[in-house]
Amino acid sequence: GIVVTGATGQLGRLVIDELLATVPAQTVAAVVRDKEKAADLAERGVELRTADYDRPETLEGVFREGERVLLVSGSEVGRRVPQHTAVIEAAKAAGVAQLAYTGILGGPEADFELAAEHKETERRILDSGLPYTFLRNGWYSENYTAHLAPVLAHGAVVGNAGDGRIASAARADYAAAAAAVLTGPAGEHLNRAYELSGDTAWSLAEYAAEVGRRTGREIAYRNVPAAAHLDILTGAGVPAPFAAILVDVDEAIGRGALAATSGDLARLIGRPTTPIADTIAAALPTA
Ligand code: NDP
Repeated sequence: GIVVTGATGQLGRLVIDELLATVPAQTVAAVVRDKEKAADLAERGVELRTADYDRPETLEGVFREGERVLLVSGSEVGRRVPQHTAVIEAAKAAGVAQLAYTGILGGPEADFELAAEHKETERRILDSGLPYTFLRNGWYSENYTAHLAPVLAHGAVVGNAGDGRIASAARADYAAAAAAVLTGPAGEHLNRAYELSGDTAWSLAEYAAEVGRRTGREIAYRNVPAAAHLDILTGAGVPAPFAAILVDVDEAIGRGALAATSGDLARLIGRPTTPIADTIAAALPTA
């Protein structure tokens, strides 16, 4: 069977959708914190198993020998190493056949704050000796398109990424890749790392121009120094520690850290990745 953690999250739900399109629901289990939030998954025939990354005792028995497991990285930055370690230990104790993990583009080479917990998690998976598949995800296009309201309000995309390029893809593309490595012939994806990113890298100036074109408005990219970006983010209500991480990410983007286009993602999903223009169009209110 196949087991997906974080199944009630945005990525996890899309992975379950992909899986149910290709394998029988009885072979899919979802690890969730809250069964009520997963009622629709149960209705579709997915087995629910409850666990919390923060409480290792809840992970005991959540995986079975020979299962193929997707660990969707947690969403609480700063807590993820102990959380992921608890999942790895449970997978090891069960003797799972595959542990796939959603890490970060660049893997051990990713040199920004947000990557640290992913790198440590990969190290711990390697140390566990479990057969692994590293899904090193680049940026989700939705990281930008989910925040179009302030862009439209101010007529500007603000950042400190300079003319750095971003090879983003839609969440659904990354979800399809995860489903592909969990369902492909056993063995094909074991002990491999995939550098997953969009087929085409774009700059924030190009992104602003595309939003402008779609809305018939003048929208520009305004590049600001890191400290000014930090002030803008905290002023808009982003908690200071997370704002600092976003500013650090922009600096990394400026260095090209999220620009790689290996083609791994398109190859795994058997189609081109979703262009940023399509994700922008889908996010804009329909006229
Ligand atoms: P979501 O926040 O929608 O989903 C996170 C999932 O993790 C949820 O299902 C959540 O459970 C689960 N989770 C969080 N904490 C725990 C815990 N303590 N125990 C058990 N489950 C937990 O994020 P996305 O689906 O959009 O993204 C998936 C992951 O990808 C993120 O968690 C993050 O690590 C990473 N990410 C990557 C980005 C990129 O651009 N590459 C951008 C954003 C995130 P619940 O449903 O109960 O809340």
